[in-house]
Parts: sequence; structure tokens; C-alpha cells
Amino acid sequence: PTDHINHNNHLTAEWVKQFRPYAKEGKCASYIPALAEKDPNQLAISIIGTNNDEMKAGETTELFTLQSVSKVVTFILACMERGLPYVLERVDVEPTGDTFNSIIRLESHQPGKPFNPMINAGAITVSSMLDGNSPQEKVSKILQFLEQIVGKELKVNEEVYQSEWQTANRNRSLAYYLMDSGFLDCPVEEALEVYLKQCAIEVNVSDLAMIGLVIANDGYHPLLNKQLFPKQVAKLAKALMVTCGMYNASGKFAAFIGLPAKSGVSGAILVAVPSHAGLDSPFPAGCGIGIYGPAIDTIGNSVAGVNLLKHIATEWNMNIF
Ligand code: GLN
Repeated sequence: PTDHINHNNHLTAEWVKQFRPYAKEGKCASYIPALAEKDPNQLAISIIGTNNDEMKAGETTELFTLQSVSKVVTFILACMERGLPYVLERVDVEPTGDTFNSIIRLESHQPGKPFNPMINAGAITVSSMLDGNSPQEKVSKILQFLEQIVGKELKVNEEVYQSEWQTANRNRSLAYYLMDSGFLDCPVEEALEVYLKQCAIEVNVSDLAMIGLVIANDGYHPLLNKQLFPKQVAKLAKALMVTCGMYNASGKFAAFIGLPAKSGVSGAILVAVPSHAGLDSPFPAGCGIGIYGPAIDTIGNSVAGVNLLKHIATEWNMNIF
């Protein structure tokens, strides 16, 4: 699956040129020291369709970490390993409208069940329930699952992981609170290790687009001709992406762009375009889109990336609604 058929890249190249200047309106995340060193002016996009055709442009070979995009992946994996009832008993599917690392509702809404798996509290809970006897085993399972989708070996960026591990005071407090209210399935430091390592998994935009493509196809990998996860889980993941995927900008994103998407503070955006939304595009059977633009807004979404995506969704009439 890594050898995609490339075409029409002049169009995507034009778009990247047009939207790169928007990066000036954002800044690289600085609360994770290793992310602050990234070049804020980078912008890359890959769009991959069911026939393996790809349109891409910008810094497409640049590696970046998944960060919050990994929350979709571990949610899917946890549902496969534990079954939906188990997962949904421990994490809800309601958007919060709060920042991604907010702690406030864990106390105000007894018994402290995290609102959804796309905010940190919910994602740490999900990571704690993954199968494996050690954090390393759990992380290996996440890597294996992703490697099957992207068709190549992936790894955790140790520098980014260490950088966040040492500064993760907010995530530590969320995890200790969750442990106290009975929502963690493993010791706090182990859940944090899994969560922060999954956030530090490195990909490029084509990898991201492949993940989006499989989610768009309800868990079916069109290049492997294989169902990798149940349709019902894929549908739930897409609903969560629409309602909670862009943090507390998810409402505006749904209203004005209308695509299931998940962002990360690295500047990554994963988009799953289902077939009915792709009809007016060069990808009528749906596609996955991967975007990387490390300059993010105050909410945590790539500024150039969101603007670029809005343009594409409008040009190709992709709004799912
Ligand atoms: N690792 C980051 C954190 O926990 C991920 C957050 C994000 O991408 N929004 O803060």
C-alpha cells in the first residue's frame, strides 16, 4: 500500500502554495518542548482513494507525531479488544465544548466518567484498557494495528515522547483523578506511558491519508481487500470525529466544513471522506486525507490545514451533510 499511483499533483501543489501563508496566524505547540522546534511554515497534504490513487503536495516526506489523532486509533483498537459495551461503560460519547485537556467536568459530572475518547481524559482511560501485560506490549499492538493499515514499519519518536513525559503535569493530574474515580484499568504511570507513546508515533501525510481511507471505508482496507475492524466501530469513530474530533472547534468544523476529522497538536489532521461525500471529487468512492501544518491556533488545530481543508471540501462539494 505504500506505492500509491500519483497524479494531478499540480492542483494540490497550487493549493499548498495558496494556503501556506495562513501558518502565520498560528504557532507551533510549545507546551511539548520538542514540538516547538518544528518549522511552522510547513504544509503538506495527501489524498488517497480506494484505487490507490494519490494526490499530494508540500512536505510530504516530513515525519510528524500523531498526537491526538492517535485517540481515534486506540478507540477503535479498544473496541475490537474489549467490545463496545465494555468501552462505553468507561467512556461516554458526548462532546464537551471544553479544551482537550480540561479536567473540570471529571469532578462536576459524577461519577467522573470521561465525556468522550477524543479528549485527554477519555483517551487516557481508553489507553489503560488496551490489551497487554505491559505498556510496551500495548504500544506494540497499536503499532502493529497501524502498520497493517499503512503497509510499513512505524515507530515512536523517543525525543517527542521523553519531552512530553517530562512535562505532562496536566495529563498526570487527569490520570490520577481517573484512577481515584475508578476509570483506569492499569496503574497511572503505565496508562500515561501508553498514551504519551501513542501520541509520539511518527507518520507522514500519506500514512495519515491511509488511516483516513480505511475509516472512510467502514474498516475495510481497499488495497488489502480485508475488513480490519467492524463497520459499527468505524461508524462510531466517524461520529466521534464529527462531534469531538476538532476539540472545542468541532461544532464550527461540522457546520462549515462537514467532514469527520481528527486533529493533533503536532498540526496533523486526519480526514475520512465517505463515498457519498466524494461524488463530485476525483475520488467518488471516498478517500482519506492527511494534512500536516504545525502552526496551530489557540484551540490546537492547524491553521493552514483547516483553511486548506475548507477550500477542498467546498471545491469538491464534500460536506457529508
Ligand atoms: N500528547 C498531547 C497531549 O496529551 C496530545 C494533545 C493533542 O494533540 N491535542 O497534550
